[in-house]
Amino acid sequence: MNGLAEAAGSFALTRWVSRKSRADFERWQAAALRSFLNRDLPRTPFYSKAPARLIDLPVTDKALLMARFDEFNIHHLTAAQAWAAVAGEGRAGSLTIGASTGTSGNRGLFVISEAEKYRWLGAILAKAAPDLLWRGMRVAVILPQNTGLYDSARKSRLIKLAFFDLTLGPESWRSALEAFDPTVIIAPPKILRHFASEGFRLRPKRVFSAAETLDPVDRPVIEDFFRLPLDQIYMATEGLFAVTCRQGGLHLAEDSVFFEFEPEGEGLVTPLVTTFRRRTQIMARYRMNDLLRLSKAPCRCGSPLRCLDEIVGRMDDVFRLMSPDGPVLVTPDVLRNAVLKADRRIDDFRLVQTGPDRVELSLPPTFADDAAAAAHQAVQALLDARKAVATVTLVRAPLPLETGRKLRRVEARLERAR
Ligand SMILES: [Zn+2]
Repeated sequence: MNGLAEAAGSFALTRWVSRKSRADFERWQAAALRSFLNRDLPRTPFYSKAPARLIDLPVTDKALLMARFDEFNIHHLTAAQAWAAVAGEGRAGSLTIGASTGTSGNRGLFVISEAEKYRWLGAILAKAAPDLLWRGMRVAVILPQNTGLYDSARKSRLIKLAFFDLTLGPESWRSALEAFDPTVIIAPPKILRHFASEGFRLRPKRVFSAAETLDPVDRPVIEDFFRLPLDQIYMATEGLFAVTCRQGGLHLAEDSVFFEFEPEGEGLVTPLVTTFRRRTQIMARYRMNDLLRLSKAPCRCGSPLRCLDEIVGRMDDVFRLMSPDGPVLVTPDVLRNAVLKADRRIDDFRLVQTGPDRVELSLPPTFADDAAAAAHQAVQALLDARKAVATVTLVRAPLPLETGRKLRRVEARLERAR
């Protein structure tokens, strides 16, 4: 198989689609989705007798896909075989197998073919840095584990790709990264912020936050350090979902994913995704855990792909509290804003729901006492205003860089009821 031809084809298609009008784009997307439903979906056991219309298919989620893993991929690969592959080279024959990070029991598996791997790469480059490609680009990818997705590109003339394992810690590869001198950096925001605070010698042309929710509090620190606007790649085990364009719009990857949205209140939605250009592992009407805010206005760049205003966080991190009037849900963005708006000097914190009526706010001892007290009071006032029965405790402790898990400043750490 000619991998570069796949990548180039995908690159060209992604660019071509981005120049369509919305009406033309929707016609193209409907045809692509139709062909996926007719031809690709029925090749997996789970969908062998599926109804023809998307809207009639069942909603799926990670628990279902993991429990019946072999029924959702065309090679009937079992979850046990996939985990064995992940523990080894991340390969099963010509297939690439990867897993998301996360607590054990909550990790997702993915399986993709060689062709899909190159198509994914072509799409991400077409969205992320089309202008840089022809001048030769050096892309540094800093993520928790080598999924095998990135290996392919190392051999290409136009792209030099280097992977740095987040879990080993930045000090273990700092000099290698600086010597590589990347023009594009893709990394979680906490690592980009770490580069800023430690003064890494880097001069990229584009910087992408990926793999974790970008908190507004990190953005100015990173942008000031690199003297560049910070862009985002919203991707997960399940695929590539949104990428920032050169005008700063965070466009949904509607050219490979059909999105449906379930309202969650306060203008927020969670997506159901159908990845209609992937054929090895089928994801249809798959419920993502993310809370999104959709943009109302189209982007200045003219792309027909709709935009997100914000990836607010995960449904798992919504605080679920009780009030005399019944359950109260408080979303991560509202909680975060309460802390940050309490005092301008606060630029880091952790806010964790530790019990049905207990919330813990952690602030580093370096912050002034009056700022900490203001934040503590602001969170308690927010919960009181919602009539939530909860006690907020203030903890003064350092907040170290954790490379082994995703950073979630607002987190619900409760044993979940079944
Ligand atoms: Zn745009």
